[in-house]
Amino acid sequence: MDKIIEDIKKCEKCELCKTRTQAVPGDGNLHAEIMFVGEAPGKNEDIKGVPFVGRAGKLLDEMLLKIGLERKDVYITNIVKCRPPENRDPTPSEKKTCSVHLDKQIEKMEPKIVVCLGRHSAGYLFEKYGIEFPGIGEAHGKSFKTESGLVLFPIYHPAAAIYNQKLKKDLEEDFQKLIEILKKTPKTGLLKDYF
Ligand code: URA
Repeated sequence: MDKIIEDIKKCEKCELCKTRTQAVPGDGNLHAEIMFVGEAPGKNEDIKGVPFVGRAGKLLDEMLLKIGLERKDVYITNIVKCRPPENRDPTPSEKKTCSVHLDKQIEKMEPKIVVCLGRHSAGYLFEKYGIEFPGIGEAHGKSFKTESGLVLFPIYHPAAAIYNQKLKKDLEEDFQKLIEILKKTPKTGLLKDYF
């Protein structure tokens, strides 16, 4: 994984390398069974070099804590590793170019569950695994098994839930479902001592 992280840090495959402070490869436990995948770093993440450290990140930490997990129990990353200027959405071309890094991270880590944070993340990952994406409103809180056995679990992006109580409630419920799924997955790796 060191090589993958190094490649991300010095990546110049797209124009975002010109405006970034630094690339944001990921944070957490490289042996985790759960990987959270967001969209792209924002301003705070670009400064600190760590994903989800702003307001959305605080909510993510809060949700994790509610199910008894911390960052050190999971791995957190994004589809696009560099901040798009003015926090605009990453373009389809940026997502396509950058996703080679995520593909390698998934291949190396072999997580059991990939939690897709929001529609951009879910859209990319569903397409990658050849599963039709019914939209985040329909898909959130449901698990989708890929041919290789990996489980995709889409949820609302925490940034969308900051000011929306209904989405925040859905997010809380989906985190409870996540724990139920984890309890049912074979107990190997990091979480074997946890449950
Ligand atoms: N939103 C994301 O999708 N990723 C981050 O790292 C921060 C905010």
